[in-house]
Amino acid sequence: MSAPLYELTDHDRAVYEWQMWVADFGEAGQRKLKAASVLVSRVGGVGGTVAYFLAAAGVGRLVLAHAGPIRENDLNRQLLMTHDAVGTLRVESAAKRLRELNPRLELETVPENVTEQNVARLVASADLVADCAPLFSERLLMNREAVRQRKPLIESAMYELEAQLTTVIPGQTPCLACLYPTEPPAWKRQFPVFGAVAGTIGSLAAMEAIKVLAGFGEPLAGRLLIGNLRDMTFRTVRISKNPSCSVCGH
Ligand SMILES: [Zn+2]
Repeated sequence: MSAPLYELTDHDRAVYEWQMWVADFGEAGQRKLKAASVLVSRVGGVGGTVAYFLAAAGVGRLVLAHAGPIRENDLNRQLLMTHDAVGTLRVESAAKRLRELNPRLELETVPENVTEQNVARLVASADLVADCAPLFSERLLMNREAVRQRKPLIESAMYELEAQLTTVIPGQTPCLACLYPTEPPAWKRQFPVFGAVAGTIGSLAAMEAIKVLAGFGEPLAGRLLIGNLRDMTFRTVRISKNPSCSVCGH
């Protein structure tokens, strides 16, 4: 009989040795990551960092969704993109970089952003969703579908030097629509951003995903992390379900 997929190989044990020293993660946690799949919505400054650290940590399968070609003004923050790939599809450049890091990673690339038409299929394709889209319209769609399909959702967002992060566990925690019932009217597609801020929130989001998938630590379930990198203050506030939320309310 062939070994189940989540058995670790000698190669896995070598590559992931140092993280398996984390006592409440260990080999059991590594097996869970290997069996897991994550949808990363947009692989720009935030999502590219999420995808990189999930690939590095040994998550078995990633689905990368992002439309369009790399532009020069992506390069200050989108770590998976390179100068020589400007003009080519972002998801293809991202996949190439991730395969260089982890050739065993299973990858699906979708050269589309989240829409009403593809959101159900995209969410169904993974165990967990890392939502790194800059637009609230995409985020609210993703939130609605993740809650409907009962998939955990890591919501990471940033603006200028500010970062926000929370983890939605459907049926247990507030959802994004509890916090933002509708799209904030002033929100714009393009905003001021340093790569280091996007990378910070992406790193934190990747750690949240790893914790949720492997079942250890305390994710930001029902809590919102608010970080300000201008003065380096980080705080966590409790958030509540909106009983009349159109997505998760009764
Ligand atoms: Zn809600």
